[in-house]
Amino acid sequence: MKEAFDLVIIGGGPIGLACGIEAEKAGLSYVIIEKGCLVNSLYNYPKNMTFFSTSEKLEIGGVPFISHNNKPVRAEALEYYRRVATSWNLKTKLYEGVEQIFNKKGSFEVQTDKGNCKAKHLVVSTGFYDIPYLLNVTGENLPKVKHYYDEPHPYFGQNIIVVGAANSAVDVALETYRKGANVTMVIRDDSIRDTVKYWVKPDIENRIKEGSIKAYWNSEIVEIREMEVDVKTPEGVITLSNDFVLAMTGYQPDFSFLESMGIEIGEDNLRTPIHNPDTMETNVKNLYLAGVICGGLKTNKWFIENSIVHAETIVKHILENRNNK
Ligand SMILES: Cc1cc2nc3c(=O)[nH]c(=O)nc-3n(C[C@H](O)[C@H](O)[C@H](O)COP(=O)(O)OP(=O)(O)OC[C@H]3O[C@@H](n4cnc5c(N)ncnc54)[C@H](O)[C@@H]3O)c2cc1C
Repeated sequence: MKEAFDLVIIGGGPIGLACGIEAEKAGLSYVIIEKGCLVNSLYNYPKNMTFFSTSEKLEIGGVPFISHNNKPVRAEALEYYRRVATSWNLKTKLYEGVEQIFNKKGSFEVQTDKGNCKAKHLVVSTGFYDIPYLLNVTGENLPKVKHYYDEPHPYFGQNIIVVGAANSAVDVALETYRKGANVTMVIRDDSIRDTVKYWVKPDIENRIKEGSIKAYWNSEIVEIREMEVDVKTPEGVITLSNDFVLAMTGYQPDFSFLESMGIEIGEDNLRTPIHNPDTMETNVKNLYLAGVICGGLKTNKWFIENSIVHAETIVKHILENRNNK
């Protein structure tokens, strides 16, 4: 006999956990299915990252988040969300990826890589951190090309190219430079993005101005080889000696996963998945979206701070529908 739940939540990030807490409060039977570890995206963030939010803005389920610093660091956030999961005794299935959803007359069958279960309602809170934007150039598949950054030590004494000009690229360029890498940035535009944290932007701009970090503006990589990289600049193609390429070019949601469930994707250039912002229900009845995935390609529209409310909205709508039957 298949397990059956009122609610299955796909993705155990902060917002998936928040949905679990609301389900727990409402007495719904539920499970959070997560393909990796608890808060898997946060676990895969750079080791030394600091959140831009203060800790109380990241709190869920009324569990206090005490940080030693003004803004919490990754290790504190991991500790915090573990504490949330144990305090609320959240029902999770970790290291279990959801592969397919079958919509069968008023209920969903959830097929994972380990088994299957049934759900009356579904929340998709799968974030956007699994699919990096590729450079689409020859040599991108060399092991020296990274789309995720972990820590600076491996890059000590190395010629590295950081691609991009948004928060991740800037953080990586500054951290690796300060830990002894020879850093060159390759930037498609003619400036550092305005969305870069206001307390970090002058730092990168001044390092570039003084020449400690070299930047090629209006430029892009055209080919990567074992020891070199070709960069197309406004002055023509140049060849740089290179050991590692850190492509910090952003990430995007898994649209094909959403479409496979019947969720329509908007025709706007942000590919916003269709959902009612008042209920978070998609065009598929009883199938909801929560968290950063709601923004489509606008991955900075929703973040933890402002999408925690999705959890309450969704469970309220489920309860209202149940009471109106
Ligand atoms: C470097 C960095 C710093 C940030 N700092 C802040 C900050 O200071 N404040 C803030 O509010 N926001 C911040 N954000 C944004 C924030 O981290 C994300 O908004 C947050 O992780 C979103 O939570 P989520 O639950 O929607 O998605 P995620 O945390 O990405 O969770 C999605 C989960 O779904 C899982 N998943 C995906 N597909 C499947 C599948 N098929 N089956 C099962 N599980 C699946 C993933 O493994 C993942 O654990 C930051 C983001 C980055 C990249």
